[in-house]
Amino acid sequence: MIRVRIEAKHFGEAQVLGRVHFDIAPGECVALVGPSGIGKSTILRILAGTDEDFTGHVDRPERMAVVFQEPTLLPWRNVIQNLTLVHPDLGTEGARTALDRVGLAGKETLFPGQLSLGQQRRLALARGFATPPDLLIMDEPFASLDAETAERMLALTESLMATTRPATLFVTHDRAEAERLADRILRLDGAPATLADIT
Ligand code: ADP
Ligand code: MG
Repeated sequence: MIRVRIEAKHFGEAQVLGRVHFDIAPGECVALVGPSGIGKSTILRILAGTDEDFTGHVDRPERMAVVFQEPTLLPWRNVIQNLTLVHPDLGTEGARTALDRVGLAGKETLFPGQLSLGQQRRLALARGFATPPDLLIMDEPFASLDAETAERMLALTESLMATTRPATLFVTHDRAEAERLADRILRLDGAPATLADIT
């Protein structure tokens, strides 16, 4: 069970988050929604463990995958190295399989700068799912893609989630996307932000 028990989060003097308590069951997909600037990405960073400067406590599994809005790829490493550096156990064959699943077969030796934004996102997704994670964290992974690419990414994410069944927390602006992917929706509200209601 993933347990988030944030009591407060400040940036300097400013308190961004108040009490934010929620759990995610194994295999459960939870969407986090709320207006821009309210603290969604901050919660994801706290859950991922990259921000430890808060009051409260988080229980998370070891095997995590994080997919951010801007694909955090290494520009000076090619496609296959971007996978194998993060997943050394994968090997070249495992990396090829992971790339094939997201439709990037044949792109192994290209560099991220030679890929379209949609392809970079798919590479980030392949990296996230290369070794099945227990917890998947996604921060607006389908934002600023054209409608067709966003739909392909969404369908791809759905099928990867169906096979690997990670617990998932993802941020979206899109209500329809939240309802399609998520078992449950958490909404942030107020300043400092707290959970408004749970549907
Ligand atoms: P959201 O993802 O919901 O759009 P964020 O979690 O990115 O919002 O930000 C929440 C608030 O915290 C915003 O007011 C933002 O300006 C502030 N904030 C985020 N990161 C930092 C930081 N590193 N330093 C200072 N303020 C920050
Ligand atoms: Mg954000």
